[in-house]
Amino acid sequence: MKKRIILRFKRNTIDKPIVYKLVKDFDLVFNILRANISPREDSMMVMEIEGAEEDFMKGLEYLKSLNIDTEPIEQDINRNELKCVHCGLCTSVCAPEALHLDRETMKVLFDYENCVACELCVKVCPVKAMNVFFD
Ligand code: SF4
Ligand code: SF4
Repeated sequence: MKKRIILRFKRNTIDKPIVYKLVKDFDLVFNILRANISPREDSMMVMEIEGAEEDFMKGLEYLKSLNIDTEPIEQDINRNELKCVHCGLCTSVCAPEALHLDRETMKVLFDYENCVACELCVKVCPVKAMNVFFD
């Protein structure tokens, strides 16, 4: 199975070799899609994790035991390229800058990999170009 999850962790868990443990002890393959790590504040990381279901569940248990919140990203955000008029409204609500303006072309680009599926862009888009799909 392959899933995207958001990890939210407190300041004091940051120095633990979390990712190393997930790979070595639980045989999980991961890809960090987005990380916002700060030594002074709570941090977040969006990861795509792949592995056998049993290993995946054990990995999540391990994270829980460290007091790390895990939240699966069950939905996917998609942009209808035919509808988007590149007005730029969505870029102001997209915290991870998955939607951002290319100043050369003045087009709004969508980097799917950075999207954390917060759905804020879906609400603000005047032409309903941003859509949510559930797994
Ligand atoms: S708000 Fe909608 S139309 Fe405007 S740039 Fe974003 S996706 Fe495109
Ligand atoms: S769902 Fe959230 S993170 Fe993803 S593109 Fe829209 S505003 Fe950005």
